[in-house]
Amino acid sequence: MGTGLGSAVLLNGRLLRGQNFIAGNLWGHISINLNGGLCNCGYVGCLETEPSTWVLKEKLKSYTGYEYSSLFNGDVLFADVFNEAAKGDEIAKEMMNHCLHAWSICAVNMVHAYDPQVLVFSGGVMEQASIILPYIQMMIDKYAWLPPGTVKVVKSEQSAYASLLGLEYLITKKNEI
Ligand SMILES: [Zn+2]
Repeated sequence: MGTGLGSAVLLNGRLLRGQNFIAGNLWGHISINLNGGLCNCGYVGCLETEPSTWVLKEKLKSYTGYEYSSLFNGDVLFADVFNEAAKGDEIAKEMMNHCLHAWSICAVNMVHAYDPQVLVFSGGVMEQASIILPYIQMMIDKYAWLPPGTVKVVKSEQSAYASLLGLEYLITKKNEI
């Protein structure tokens, strides 16, 4: 989770790849908004077009009263949204709640698609893991078609390097997966 959103699925210890190597990409490129914006992948209303770093500024511009928000000037990162929300900025709170809700909806979708033991989150946004992960866990426990507590939501151990570690996995295990 960061500039964009992406996911991978490990089934019985093996990477789910699909016929064209895009399987498991529900996190990021499943549409959650029929009237949403055009995504980098070419689809419409993907989770990535709702709350990811590259669309934050544009999303904020659509909020009534944005010009009065502390987020109005300059670039905006998720850390800014969460920090300003904690200080009471109403637009930041609205954006943060939208992010948490959208991510959680997609997390439940992931649970229903793959019935996993665990969802592991990584990326720069995990600087706010203490807010994000309990919210996603609560939403999964409330809405997933499983008894509460069945699926664990955790932060990866090396969150900032998840993309590189995934790349290394693809290269070093290319003949096994
Ligand atoms: Zn997409």
